[in-house]
Amino acid sequence: MSVYKAEYIWIDGTKPTSRLRCKTMVIATGKEPPVWGFDGSSTNQAEGHASDCVLQPVFQCPDPVRGGADILVLCEVFNTDGTPHETNTRAKLRAVAEANEDLDMWFGIEQEYTFFDGIKPLGWPDNGFPAPQGGYYCGVGADEVYGREIVEAHLEACLDAGLGVCGINAEVMPAQWEFQVGPLGPLAVSDHLWVARWLLYRISEDFGVSATLNAKPVKGDWNGAGAHTNFSSAAMRESIDACMAAAKALEPRHDLHIPLYGAGIEERLTGEHETCSYREFKVGVSDRGASIRVPWQVARDGKGYLEDRRPNANVDPYDVTRLITEAVAIAEKG
Ligand code: ADP
Ligand code: MN
Ligand code: MN
Ligand code: MN
Repeated sequence: MSVYKAEYIWIDGTKPTSRLRCKTMVIATGKEPPVWGFDGSSTNQAEGHASDCVLQPVFQCPDPVRGGADILVLCEVFNTDGTPHETNTRAKLRAVAEANEDLDMWFGIEQEYTFFDGIKPLGWPDNGFPAPQGGYYCGVGADEVYGREIVEAHLEACLDAGLGVCGINAEVMPAQWEFQVGPLGPLAVSDHLWVARWLLYRISEDFGVSATLNAKPVKGDWNGAGAHTNFSSAAMRESIDACMAAAKALEPRHDLHIPLYGAGIEERLTGEHETCSYREFKVGVSDRGASIRVPWQVARDGKGYLEDRRPNANVDPYDVTRLITEAVAIAEKG
């Protein structure tokens, strides 16, 4: 009998930052991946006496690690009574995305991350620190960047899986990198980002390296890791006034967004290292010290998109795209 392997992937209930979990089902060729279940008492999603949780496939793509006919299957988690599990942030986004399809929201998320070799960032000396930041951002050369072979393997895998990854670069802190996903609608950009994160962990595993989304992996004078979220509605892509109205709608919601923008956000949004303090809300053209940056070409063209620089690398994209869609809906529909 001919079979294929489906890698089921889901988001668990670990606090304060959920983790990815996965397991494999071998399926007869020609059959679709079915609804499945797992032991929620081992993933912080249930108590031992009623431990079953349900995996509902919602997005699938080719598995670039196994190749052939094998696939990756991203799932939403449900309770056995059919209601979304409380950790299922995608279900909340689904409702908001559907109600606001008319806005035609696009998102592009810049995922920063850091490679670790045991307890230190990859390539850092055993004692002390590398040279201070300055030459590493978009750097080239064995003395400037660490882990490029993993970054290249990850990019290739994302493209083979058909994910909407649109670029990569080395970041300001050595061993820190970024990939960008988008522009895509809120559900698609988030699904693609979660699968791209899974591929990052999975591929790094083969190199004996761990990738982390920790927002401030090294204390002190080193950049943190963010997930700048670029966004536009159809109206924003036509006029700067709509962009400014969206920025304005975000201001009174600052204290609503910050707690959902990733664990440890106070440590990263200090006002140093190309951030605006989490205590402030600032909009600025080309300003990397602003909460919301208006890219220079948007100011020049009089239309385009905005960059929300606040989200941490460890943010849940289902939360951030939901919150921003709600804000733009208030700006455009009241
Ligand atoms: P930065 O200069 O901040 O490092 P990047 O080039 O890393 O910017 O990322 C820019 C992101 O903006 C990409 O993810 C891209 O998909 C996204 N983007 C571009 N145009 C739009 C748009 N109109 N709406 C939403 N996102 C957009
Ligand atoms: Mn970037
Ligand atoms: Mn960056
Ligand atoms: Mn950016």
